[in-house]
Amino acid sequence: MNKAFKFRIYPNESQKTLIHMTLGHNRFLWNKMLEDKQKQYELTKNILHPTPAQYKDAYPFLKDIDSLSLANTQLNQEKAFKQFFNHKQDFPKFHSKKQDYGYTTNLVNNNIALLKGFIKLPKLGEVKIKQHRAIPNEMILKSVTVSKTGTGKYYVSILYEYQKEIKKKDVKESIGLDFSMTHFYVDHEGFKLDYPKDIQTDFNKLRVLQRSLSRRIKGSSNYHQKVLEIALLHERIRHKRDDFLHKLSNAITKRYDLVSVEGLNLKDMSQTSPYYAKQISRFGWTRFISFLKYKLETQGKTLMVMDEWYPSSKRCSCCGDIKTDLKLSERVYHCPSCELHLDRDHNAAININKEGFRKYKLAFQL
Ligand SMILES: [Zn+2]
Repeated sequence: MNKAFKFRIYPNESQKTLIHMTLGHNRFLWNKMLEDKQKQYELTKNILHPTPAQYKDAYPFLKDIDSLSLANTQLNQEKAFKQFFNHKQDFPKFHSKKQDYGYTTNLVNNNIALLKGFIKLPKLGEVKIKQHRAIPNEMILKSVTVSKTGTGKYYVSILYEYQKEIKKKDVKESIGLDFSMTHFYVDHEGFKLDYPKDIQTDFNKLRVLQRSLSRRIKGSSNYHQKVLEIALLHERIRHKRDDFLHKLSNAITKRYDLVSVEGLNLKDMSQTSPYYAKQISRFGWTRFISFLKYKLETQGKTLMVMDEWYPSSKRCSCCGDIKTDLKLSERVYHCPSCELHLDRDHNAAININKEGFRKYKLAFQL
């Protein structure tokens, strides 16, 4: 199993320069490979598989930085294309200087080590680190991702691998969760969990700031001020949101042995109902599911994600009838066959809980 630890680092000036250069060169390679692939794809519908080595002669500056980072950039792009061909993501995008993409390097011949107060990294040497938690001895370091935020902070995310014997737990308590626009989710007992008010307030502030940015003259000092304010607010929202999602997923993992959730395809949704898709990604539903998954698995518990086409909303949780013409605006599910009258999301959550249990029994042949 894998686990990542994120720590803040404090590089000195020359280390900062090298980090910026490494990020820049990786962005360059990403864009160059993408451009070549795009051309080939438009002409033939086939995809090239270029390697960093092929670019090093034409762009010798690529030899100046950690070569493992370039190999990882190539791998990440291959993954992005795979997602595209599996219809899970859009065509990979060009990376711009504005967004903070990290670079990843791997452990080879002791080139990475966590020392007291420092982390040793390829090319950079020893970088000051604030390690706020200890790493268990049995964990094996695999890779490190170095990143810089829009607000000028530097981080490392260190990925470890470990072996763990996990005994599957019997299912005594299960829960079904349906994503809700107005709350965060509704469970199969009809309990509605609200999204933290202060994050909602921050979303509104963000909207105001973004609107005011659009009125400023690009490049002016006022403009830069607003850009920084927006980046700081984004950062704050991200922290608060992760904190909320971690606490919530911890509490659910503690209490339930089987958690069933709605499977959402954001890509399809962004075409059919863009507002809905945006709200889901703002709330961090996908992130929430990934937190739940690894937390449950390390406890021998199970997460079941519904197939995208499972009609959780359209099915009557009482008699099983399917209402094909159910509109998104219908907040109450009314079944003409059995006269069930129930909150739409509650009805869906009951279905998700039932279907999750059925899938669980099938998967583990119970
Ligand atoms: Zn019914």
